[in-house]
Amino acid sequence: MTDIETVLRRHARWLEKRLREYERARRQLLADDGTPRTLYRGQWIPIHLASQTNTCRLERGTLQVPIQGDPRSLLRDWYRSQARKELGAMSSLLAAEMGVRYQRLQIRLQRTRWGSYSVRGTLSLNWRLLMAPPEVSRYVVVHELAHARHMNHSSSFWRTVQRFCPEYRQHIDWLRENRLLLEALSSFSHLTSGSRKDSAPR
Ligand SMILES: [Zn+2]
Repeated sequence: MTDIETVLRRHARWLEKRLREYERARRQLLADDGTPRTLYRGQWIPIHLASQTNTCRLERGTLQVPIQGDPRSLLRDWYRSQARKELGAMSSLLAAEMGVRYQRLQIRLQRTRWGSYSVRGTLSLNWRLLMAPPEVSRYVVVHELAHARHMNHSSSFWRTVQRFCPEYRQHIDWLRENRLLLEALSSFSHLTSGSRKDSAPR
C-alpha cells in the first residue's frame, strides 16, 4: 500500500465512524410512532405542538409547545431560561460546596464547548447541558468552577474535579458519545420534518 492509500483509508474509517454516529443520532430524534421528541435532564420526552397554549410547558411528561409562532425558537428560548434557573441553582450550590466564587452566569449556545470560566469570573454554560443527565451537567459545572482555582488542566486541577465529582471520566465519555445527538436535537429541525410527515401524500 502506498502512503497516500494508508492516509486515505484512515480518513475513510474516520468518516464512516462519524456517519454511523450521525445516523444513530438522527434515528433517535423521533419516537417509534414518529412523534418528535427531546431530551430533558437525560429523559426522553415527546414534543406536542398545541394550539391551546402560548408558552412552552412541561406537562405530564410531554413538552407542550405553542403551534403559533416559530416552535423552534420558542423551544430554544424555553431551554435557555430553564437552564438559567436549573443550572444557575446547581452552580451556586456547587460554588458554595467547593468554596469558590463566580461573578456572573452566562447561558449560551456554544457550538464546540460545554462551558467556560473566564479570569473575570464569568461562568458560561451551554444550554444543551439541560438535555444531559443531571450528573453530567453537574460534572461540567464542577469542571468550570475548578478553573476558579486552577486556570489550566494540570494534575492539581483534575484532583479538584475528582474530589467533587469522582465519576468524572464516565461523564466525559457521555458527553463525547452524545455530542452529535445533542447537536441534532437542539436545532429542533426534526419538529418540522415530523409534522410534515402527516401531510405527505401516501
Ligand atoms: Zn477546562
